[in-house]
Order: sequence, then structure tokens, then C-alpha cells
Amino acid sequence: MENYICVTCGTQFSEAVPASCPICQDERQYLPPGGQQWTTLARLRQQHRNSFRRKEPNLYGIGTVPDFGIGQRALLMRTPAGNVLWDCISLLDEATIDIIQGLGGLSAIAISHPHYYTTNVEWSRAFGNVPVYLHAADRQWVMRPDPVVQLWEGETLRLLDDLTLIRCGGHFDGGTVLHWPAGAEGRGALLTGDIIQVVPAQPFVSFMYSYPNLLPLSAAKVQHIVAAVEPFAYDRIYGAWWGRTTIQTGAKEGVRKSAERYIRLLAE
Ligand SMILES: [Zn+2]
Ligand SMILES: [Zn+2]
Repeated sequence: MENYICVTCGTQFSEAVPASCPICQDERQYLPPGGQQWTTLARLRQQHRNSFRRKEPNLYGIGTVPDFGIGQRALLMRTPAGNVLWDCISLLDEATIDIIQGLGGLSAIAISHPHYYTTNVEWSRAFGNVPVYLHAADRQWVMRPDPVVQLWEGETLRLLDDLTLIRCGGHFDGGTVLHWPAGAEGRGALLTGDIIQVVPAQPFVSFMYSYPNLLPLSAAKVQHIVAAVEPFAYDRIYGAWWGRTTIQTGAKEGVRKSAERYIRLLAE
């Protein structure tokens, strides 16, 4: 049996032929003009490959070319306690497995929100059934339940050494970012997916309920996101895409100022 993958969001399902993709039917996503389409990992491997880029020492971006699904790239972080895959992409092939094994394999996978759940069970299996940390508030969006999936509860979770998963909510109730104290040459970095979305004007970010459908978040939810990350030291943010989704420096002040202007505009 082949597990089908939704072409629009890249999520892999337990069923061979699911009736529809609830993640794409949700108002935060969309169905393409032709309607629901499915593929498989075997087909993806024929049509796509992954590319790697070092973002800073011990941090590598991994993205699929040509783009597939939502088009995000994952991040592989190396720490003295083991490697973590932050967020996930649908395509996992032999080259990707070999390259990551060469970098020390994986000890854990953590994912910001359901749009990047993709083929997390395949990734876990390929690296010895490592745990996949997803926030329990988003359990309804887990389309391929599996014993490797660890649904964590609460507001923070320590991962490996000194990494912390921080539940911000917002875009999804369980929306999570990852704090990496050793990032940005020791000044600290946040890996945010699109829970905190880096925008072109540095060092600013934005926050949305739906990015494709341009639905904003309430002031209270934006304030909650900023309050959740405020206790952590960080100077850099890595968003979810190649290109202009890194704030190299000044990210913490940028997040505060971005929230202020967002909330001011909501009130006008
Ligand atoms: Zn979908
Ligand atoms: Zn999303």
C-alpha cells in the first residue's frame, strides 16, 4: 500500500486513497482550480530532488526542487546532543538520507504547525524511528498517526540539550517555534516557520491566520505570540523559505515593533 500525499499541502495520509484533504479544505488553505490531487513518495522521487544550503555553522536548509506543495524548506540543526530536523518537507530520497547520515543522522524532528507535517513518519523511520514532536493542540490535523509522533502539551518543551520548543499559537493553536541558544554566533536564534513570518523589510515580521487567503490574527493572539518568545534571548530569526526569510540581526526588537504596528493598524 502506498500512502497518498496531497499535492497542494504535501501532507501524507494513512489511507491509500483518502476522500479529501482536511488541511486544504480548512479556510487557512485552498484547493487548486482542478480540485484535489494526490501523489506518492515514489512519484515525487522521480520528479523532484532536494537541495541543501548551509545557513550558518551547524544549520542547513533543505528544500525540494522544483518546488512541491507549499514550497517551504526544512532546517537541519547540529548540536552536541544530536541533530534536529526543524519543520519537514514531503520529499525524502536516498541522497537526502545519505547526506544527513553523513552529518550525524537525526535525534529528533519537531514541526511548527500542520502545513509542514508532510511525510514526518517517513523521515522518522529513515533515521531509526526518532520522535516527531507536534503540539497536542493540533492533534486533529495529524493525518498519519503513528507511535513515533509525540504530542506534547503545555507552553514549552526542552529538546535535547538546551533547545526549547515554544508554543506561540496564532496561525494554528499549537503553532510552535524553536529556540536555539547557540545560533547567531551564540546570540541566539528562533526558528519560526511561518508562526512568526519574516517579511521583506528588515527586521520586521508579520503574523497571519491564513497566508494564502490573507486572514489576519486578533490583537490578543499577536500579543500572545510576542509574550511567548519574550523570555528567550535571540538576535536572529529563520523563517520557512529560501530567500528573504532570515532576519540576521535585531530580530527581537523587530518582533516587538512589528506587533505594535500590526495591533495599531487593527485598531484603526
Ligand atoms: Zn492538502
Ligand atoms: Zn501555515
